[in-house]
Amino acid sequence: MKLFGSSGTRGVVGDGLTPEFVLRVAKAAGTVWGTDRAVVARDTRTTGEMLANAAVSGLESVGVDVDRLGPTPTPSAVRYAGENGRPGIVITASHNPPEYNGIKLVGADGVELSVDDLERIESHVLGEEFATAAWDAVGDSRQVTAANREYVADLLDSVDRETIADADLTVALDPGHGAGALTSPEFFRELGCEVVTVNGNPDGHFPGRESEPVEANLNDLTSLVRAADADVGIAHDGDADRAVFVDETGAFVAGEASLAALAAAALEPGDATVAAVNVSQRLVDVCDRAGAELELTPIGSTNIITRIRELHAAGEHVPIAGEGNGGIFYPEYRLVRDGAYVGAKFLELVAERPVSEIIAPYTDYENVRINLEYETEAELDAMLDAAEAFAERADADPNTIDGYRLDYGDAWVLVRPSGTEPKVRVYAEARSDSRARTLAEGAAGALRAALASLD
Ligand code: MG
Repeated sequence: MKLFGSSGTRGVVGDGLTPEFVLRVAKAAGTVWGTDRAVVARDTRTTGEMLANAAVSGLESVGVDVDRLGPTPTPSAVRYAGENGRPGIVITASHNPPEYNGIKLVGADGVELSVDDLERIESHVLGEEFATAAWDAVGDSRQVTAANREYVADLLDSVDRETIADADLTVALDPGHGAGALTSPEFFRELGCEVVTVNGNPDGHFPGRESEPVEANLNDLTSLVRAADADVGIAHDGDADRAVFVDETGAFVAGEASLAALAAAALEPGDATVAAVNVSQRLVDVCDRAGAELELTPIGSTNIITRIRELHAAGEHVPIAGEGNGGIFYPEYRLVRDGAYVGAKFLELVAERPVSEIIAPYTDYENVRINLEYETEAELDAMLDAAEAFAERADADPNTIDGYRLDYGDAWVLVRPSGTEPKVRVYAEARSDSRARTLAEGAAGALRAALASLD
């Protein structure tokens, strides 16, 4: 696929991602779907309304009526699409910086489109094959205001409300000015928690912090946990399909650790789970102990969803799946990553014991990630050639399912180009920070040398 990467299409608005492009994708999607009515939703980015308007216009031009949801979390838009049996276009760039935006496409079954479906739409975009409607057959749109309210009500019905309410928890919440600001404060309050927020107003400039919920961006939240004496901190990304946590002392919880804790609570012998090729050894250990099978895919939610669907078709039970970045699926609930739902599943554990105790069994690994930016294809190619040579030289088992993963038994390192940004990412995990850093720097050093040799 040229247009759609592992997480949809993203780019800097006006430079790569234009309303004209969104219009063409919407015309192609409406043509392929052949539906009477579709859904258009967006996150809180400043360019969201403009691009949503282009999507609505494109759909209408091929004769499709549109439900406009306005700003809403991606899992809410996906829920609405599935409940109403309508495909949809979500305008979001997830955790990317504010100048980015993007397109995510959802089927009428309430699941992100498969690679096959995306390729069909892509071929219509590239071939400019659109089912243009006559003047008296174009679609029209209506504003739907109930989506956020229905989403919260649905969440409340789907988690262990009583256990959470009985625990009288104080939750510090950081929606990062994203779409979760519209639903998560209400949701956790309705669950019976005392909720305090930071960066809690929807604002596409992301004035308080960068959108990606990583440790470096969550100083406000860790301070708030301490100041409010909260039991837990919860942070979302821009479209609130991810949740990461802060413990009761204000310490950041690695996403790999919270995923391992949630998986340990969810997995039974004979279950299957799916993770990406950058999977933490912590999840590998949990699956071993639980007697559950772990399946690895290339990085990206589309790949994980595709594998879960295959496992479901084969009759497998997949109670949990996902990545160590806070993007976690509970496929028996919905086949979508849902930051609020994941937050509530974590609160079910926090109701029993403190966060630091929940994650204590999963803190014996350290993760390091280095991002190497590039500007030209030649620079990217040079880094990938260097990564291949590095993998061939290394005294480790290589896995090339997506990039180059080297397993050293006690540690691993992965070199892989980002699917959404002009960066090559280097991941490493080991039982000590110094070993992880040495491995990551070793690989990154080889890539930097290749870049330098181009000058
Ligand atoms: Mg996201």
